[in-house]
Parts: sequence; C-alpha cells; structure tokens
Amino acid sequence: MIVVMDLRADEKQITNVTKSLEELGFKTHLIKGVERIVIGAIGDRKQILSSGIEVMPGVEKIVPIMKPFKLVSREVKTDNTIIRVKDFSIGGEELGIIAGPCAVESWEQLMETASLVKAAGATAIRGGTYKPRTSPYSFQGLEDEGLKLLAKAGNETGLATITEVIDEKSLDVAVEYVDIIQIGARNMQNFQLLRAVGRIEKPVLLKRGLSATIEEWLMAAEYIMSEGNYNVILCERGIRTFETYTRNTLDISAVPLIKQLSHLPVMVDPSHATGEWKLVAPLSRAAVAAGADGLLVEVHPDPVKALCDGPQSLTPDNFAELMKELIQLSELMGRKVN
Ligand code: PEP
Ligand code: MN
Repeated sequence: MIVVMDLRADEKQITNVTKSLEELGFKTHLIKGVERIVIGAIGDRKQILSSGIEVMPGVEKIVPIMKPFKLVSREVKTDNTIIRVKDFSIGGEELGIIAGPCAVESWEQLMETASLVKAAGATAIRGGTYKPRTSPYSFQGLEDEGLKLLAKAGNETGLATITEVIDEKSLDVAVEYVDIIQIGARNMQNFQLLRAVGRIEKPVLLKRGLSATIEEWLMAAEYIMSEGNYNVILCERGIRTFETYTRNTLDISAVPLIKQLSHLPVMVDPSHATGEWKLVAPLSRAAVAAGADGLLVEVHPDPVKALCDGPQSLTPDNFAELMKELIQLSELMGRKVN
C-alpha cells in the first residue's frame, strides 16, 4: 500500500502518519518525489483499511500496489530517480557512462585506462577486484589491493568508482573504497547480499541475472530498497538464449519496459551482453536510442593481453570514437553526455 500525502502536508503530519503505520506493524518508507510525497507501507493490507489512517490530517489517499514489486514501482514514485556521485549522474538528462577494464590488473593498466576514458567523456571508472569467474582456475582479481588502486585512480581523475562485490566480506571492504557497489549477474538472487547492500549508504548497480525475468530482477531491486537503500541502478547485461554467436542476447526491450514499470535508472552493458568488441558500439547506440540512462563499457589499453574479457573490451581509441557518436545521438534523444 502507499499512503499518498497531500502536497501541503507538513513534517509533523508526515511523522504522525508514519508513526501510526508503524504502530499497526507496517514497515514504512518515505519517498519524496518531485510531484508528491508518499509513505510506502509494507504489511497486512487489511490492517490499514480499518485503521482510520485515510482520514488523518495530511493524507490524500491510500492506494494499493498490485504488482509484487512495490518500492521499485512507478506507482510509488512517478518521477525518475536520479542518482549522482561526483560527475556521474544517472536517471536525469545526463547519461552515466561507466568505462574501464573487466579486472584491475595493475596501477599502470588502471590509470592509463582511467585517464583516457575520462578524456573521452566517461563519468565513472570500473574495475573488478573480486572476480566471480566461471572457472576457479581463471584470474580471480587483486582483491583488497585492487580496491586501493581503484580508489587512487578515482582521486587522481575525479571519476566516480565502481566495483563488484561477491559476498558480505568483500562488501565490507569495498564500501570503504569505492563510490558505487556492483552486484553481478551471478549474484542477482543472492538475497543475503542484496539485503546487505540495502543497508549501505552508497548507490548499488544491480545487474540482471543470467536467466532472470524482468520481474525477478525488479524483485531483487525490491530486496535492496526494502532495507532502506533507494539508490539502485538497474543494468541490463544480456540474458541466456539459444543463440551462440554472442555470449548472451541483449534484451533491448527491457530498457523501455523498465522505464514504464519503475522509476529507477536503467543502463545497458553491451560488453557482457555480446562478448564481442565489434558489437559494442552498435549496441551502445541502440541502448541510448531505446532510452537507456547510461552505459557500462569494458575498455582495456591492450585487450589482447587482458587477464579477463579481452575479446569484448574496446581500446581507448575505439571508446573515444564511440563517445563522439554518442554525443550526437544523445542530442537527438534529448540527453547529454558529460
Ligand atoms: C562484470 O561486470 O565484470 C561482470 C562480471 O558482469 P556480469 O555480472 O554482468 O557477468
Ligand atoms: Mn567482464
């Protein structure tokens, strides 16, 4: 249920309604949109209807949310959620562009990439330091050492930083070093981890699971928001299909669909979606044309020597080329790149 407050409701009225809901056993979430203030109330629906909340001062109406995802839903918040960290902004007019290597390999590799992607217009640097590799024999990442390098690259370039965490232990360390926490496709339904990132105060980028439906993905976002962290960025990164020419199949329809169903920003990762660097630029254009709020693109100074995901990584030159195209395209779409 959501309790929609009158636009003129004051703080005291909001507090009173919140308190009454909590006394009835509801978990409450105050959602301040541009157009209206609502109190999300999670609990037994019958309780609210017989409670007299509807006639409390400051209350406009009570609306049931029929979808299984509540806080994520557009019904709760009609305006887009905009998330800002340093120069990275996503969900508003500007496109959030995250670029960088699959894995942090060395200071030189990271810093070279960071300065070149920044010059080309990226707004965040990415780099995996705890890698959830399919094979236990593949490079597993520099772990805590990599986090320190990422934080340093962020400080030196002014770029926002993002890295993936794979469990609560890596989360505890990463949250001290980076600006945005990524939950990878393989952990999209790791509910303990989702709850844990729901308790931090930094934005969370939630990738779509390898075979997750849109609803399962939005329910994963709901797990995070239900713990109080409303800064969730959704990232479509391709799903499993019968096609074998690409690593995954980019579900481009997810972009406009999510924009209808949810107020959360949605971005596209064309690198993991295809596994093929030559497809990254065309699919980046498609994503922006479909209304994506940003892109996550793997870039490596020397893809042939990359320890992870080289075949899908752009060179810094190719990335700069793509950014030039995106500047033109974003104008057409009424968007901006940094
Ligand atoms: C990644 O971003 O490096 C990654 C492992 O992505 P995904 O979780 O989408 O496979
Ligand atoms: Mn990768």
